[in-house]
Amino acid sequence: MTEERTVKLYYEDPYMREFEAKILSIEGDEVVLDRTAFYPEGGGQAGDTGVIDGVRVTDTQIRDGFVAHILETPPRFKVGDSVKCGIDWERRYRIMKLHSAAHIMEHFLWQRLGKMERLGSHVDEKKDRADYAYEGRLPAVELRRVEEATNLFLAEGHEVKIRLNPSKPGIRIWSCGPIEMPCGGTHVHNTREIGAIRLKRRNPGRGVERIETTLAEEDPTLTPKTFI
Ligand SMILES: [Zn+2]
Repeated sequence: MTEERTVKLYYEDPYMREFEAKILSIEGDEVVLDRTAFYPEGGGQAGDTGVIDGVRVTDTQIRDGFVAHILETPPRFKVGDSVKCGIDWERRYRIMKLHSAAHIMEHFLWQRLGKMERLGSHVDEKKDRADYAYEGRLPAVELRRVEEATNLFLAEGHEVKIRLNPSKPGIRIWSCGPIEMPCGGTHVHNTREIGAIRLKRRNPGRGVERIETTLAEEDPTLTPKTFI
């Protein structure tokens, strides 16, 4: 195969959980489909897991420009076969919530503390973590205010929109209310789906501060907090 022929269903409909596809190639434990809802790791977002015809997909990666589904066990299907596929929806939906929330968190972070360079970021089903160039310690009170502002914004029910940049093919622009940035990830349609988030700071090294975003409703130890 010399060109990418996989239709990216995860962009056409990020809420698609099940789909049928045809096997385009099998190399070792890696399978390429003619269409897929499995998001391949990229832009800081973890690759999807799920099943193809009953065989576990443990990860999805871009390999030489192709969306490669990595199988746990050798498949019985062969090139040309039609297969039933399903992504681990609960996991992916959490990733969508956390990814959207992280963009909004960053907006309020920069609003309060000034724009700081993002050195890296990663989102999986457990948390989003974003590293920023910052000398010293992010003030706890500021972080709480960012958390509060983010949660208020989420509850307001803002629509998340994705559009393509006509001057830069392949670049997708994510926007929500006044916030806008390039992003190739998968996102919720409305901020209300996210619920509330919690923020935690960590210090992974000198001159770097890390902010971890988690979904609040899943931590049973949390008690309502009064914000300053
Ligand atoms: Zn993003």
